[in-house]
Order: sequence, then C-alpha cells, then structure tokens
Amino acid sequence: MNLLQRIKDLVRSRSIHVSYVDVGSCNGCDIEVLACLAPRYDIEQYGIYVHNNPREADVLLVVGAFTPGWEEKLGSVWDKIPEPKAAIAIGNCPISGCVFGRRGSYVDPPVSKHIPIAAEVPGCPPRPTEILAAILSLRDTVFKGWEARQR
Ligand code: SF4
Repeated sequence: MNLLQRIKDLVRSRSIHVSYVDVGSCNGCDIEVLACLAPRYDIEQYGIYVHNNPREADVLLVVGAFTPGWEEKLGSVWDKIPEPKAAIAIGNCPISGCVFGRRGSYVDPPVSKHIPIAAEVPGCPPRPTEILAAILSLRDTVFKGWEARQR
C-alpha cells in the first residue's frame, strides 16, 4: 500500500462525515440517533461529524420503513454523496418494515431495494452504542484502501 493511500486511510479513520435521512419512521430511531450527538455518547470524540448536506457526507444513515414519497428522493440524496460512501439502515424499519410492514401496507421495505446498504443495525429502536459501532465498522470494511481496490 502506497504512502498516499495510507494517509487517506488515516484521515478517513478519524474523520467520518455522516448525513441522515428519515424515510418514514415513528421517530423512535430518530431519538436514538440524536442521542449519539448528546454529551453521554458524544459522537465527535470518535471523529464522526454530522452534516445536513449529503455532498459533504461519507455515510448516510437511513431510518424508517420507506414510504412512497421517497421513491426518487432517496436515490437523489444517495447520488449526491461522493465516493467512497456507504449507507447504514438504522432500526428494524428499513430492514423489514417492522410494525409498519404488514400486508397491504403503504410502505416498501427493505431500503436495500432502493440504495446499497453496507451495514444494518437491527432493533426497535437500536441503542446509540450500536449505531456508533456500525459507523466505526465502516472504516475497515468500506473506506480503508478504497482507491487501491478500485484499480
Ligand atoms: S424500528 Fe421501531 S423505533 Fe425505529 S422507526 Fe421503526 S417502529 Fe420506530
């Protein structure tokens, strides 16, 4: 692995920029994601920073069971994130629909049908520590050596 790749890996391991989208949740998972920002979990101590603008993001957090209004919008948000990038499904809703995923339901899970999902955090809702662990796990599985793997 060359020096430039090592520097990129080092920077990415300490600076992960996260954007967030709710495609139809009950807000239970939103609260757990928000808790990651609070002093108790303090997401920035791990080098994770939150942005509203997907153009500045590396990771997209997705909560919710995917309502039809997001059919084109989610893909548009995903396309704005520069490579290398990854999406994480937060909670049972984007994985299975959870309590909303019933016959004749309006929702259309899993979110992995609509954008590629690199990691899933099950739970209704999952704990903030599990959300943090999922984001940090991407350092090795998605971002480390990304340029070298593209050749
Ligand atoms: S997984 Fe549970 S807590 Fe999270 S949005 Fe769905 S129903 Fe709400």
